[in-house]
Amino acid sequence: MDVIVLGGGLMGTASACFLARRGARVTLIERNRVGAGATVASFGNIRRTGRHLSQLPLAHRSLRLWAGAEKMLGRDVEFRATGHIRLIFDEGGLADMRAYAEAARPWGLELEELSPREIQTRFPGLGPDAIAASFSPHDGSGNPRLIAPAFAEAARKLGAKIVEGAEIGTIRHTGSGFLVATSKGSFAAECLLNTAGAWGARIAAQFGEEVPLEARGPQMGVTEPLPHRILPVVGIWTRDKDHGAYLRQVERGNFVFGGAAERVSVDLEPGHAAADPMRLPAQLRAVARLLPAIAQVAVIRTWSGCEGYVRDMLPVMGRSATTLGLFHAFGFSGHGFQLGPGVGDAMAELITTGRCETPLDDFRIDRFKARRAEMDSGDAL
Ligand SMILES: Cc1cc2nc3c(=O)[nH]c(=O)nc-3n(C[C@H](O)[C@H](O)[C@H](O)COP(=O)(O)OP(=O)(O)OC[C@H]3O[C@@H](n4cnc5c(N)ncnc54)[C@H](O)[C@@H]3O)c2cc1C
Repeated sequence: MDVIVLGGGLMGTASACFLARRGARVTLIERNRVGAGATVASFGNIRRTGRHLSQLPLAHRSLRLWAGAEKMLGRDVEFRATGHIRLIFDEGGLADMRAYAEAARPWGLELEELSPREIQTRFPGLGPDAIAASFSPHDGSGNPRLIAPAFAEAARKLGAKIVEGAEIGTIRHTGSGFLVATSKGSFAAECLLNTAGAWGARIAAQFGEEVPLEARGPQMGVTEPLPHRILPVVGIWTRDKDHGAYLRQVERGNFVFGGAAERVSVDLEPGHAAADPMRLPAQLRAVARLLPAIAQVAVIRTWSGCEGYVRDMLPVMGRSATTLGLFHAFGFSGHGFQLGPGVGDAMAELITTGRCETPLDDFRIDRFKARRAEMDSGDAL
């Protein structure tokens, strides 16, 4: 089987690697450099807590692959299962956490509830005003700079062709498959996988499939290094967006942080998302609630990245509803880093076997069409 993978972020490179492992002949076409889209901008959180429940089977599949990534890819991509703590400062947050923990348990996610005393003894320095926390011991983080190049390199070693810096011309569906014309030559294959991230809806639209997707940029920052003391990734349960910050300390000592700042709108051409310095002070105030010591530390860099947010905040994954041989995996709405390896594995399974053991039904591309038809028939009146 020949497959063209269009877009070389985490989803495209992981798919290329797992497709090649299953014996497919793969050509990955990336218009810039592999991994340089939303993937490299990611905060690096490998978190299952708070995910939409129907995403948990895919998230579990992905976590198992993250745990084996070093062995599979032949290099350390800095996956560390340090645990993920989410602090709680008010009764609303506590109620939300307990409701989520109960709902997630049948889906295979166990959250521990920590008291203020347990927070202080197990994680000194975190949230002195917190009234409780959830803790997910097997989650953690990975290095967003390393993972996509590692998957691309592993795919290349298995025979995949990796084409970078290719200006994309026309994409045609022919009787026998797809023909993609690029500045680096034309490529043909019986299957096409659209992993073009925030640009994925534009490709889908070429095949008559409309997806309500907006390109936005969340804002991240990193501090100077301090001695390495904070092990888990730290977040918060809150109903107040202004408080929704998160942080982690990398092994080299720097704190990476994000959240608590509205995501800026991004123009898909050229697709560069810029951090807004005006949002930094409020963001840092929210981060300091999680870790007061950070107020004394210098921020050395801020950045953003162009991510595709789908209206219902779920990705588009699975077969095209209009075109035989076309598949989609895009629009990961700010939480695709954790899912990446699982997405690649699941898409490779679907493309090569026609089935997928992980349920993907909630992510199908025609879900918006179904809703519109319902409204048109008067159900919504
Ligand atoms: C600032 C930021 C922080 C984030 N933090 C987290 C986090 O902590 N945890 C988490 O789970 N998720 C996080 N995310 C989300 C996560 O990073 C993304 O969901 C994920 O990386 C998306 O991967 P992708 O491969 O779909 O997209 P991308 O990495 O954007 O890759 C898509 C690629 O397609 C290419 N492309 C576009 N059009 C074409 C075309 N026509 N032909 C060829 N190539 C094309 C682009 O150049 C790009 O390289 C974050 C995102 C951002 C922006």
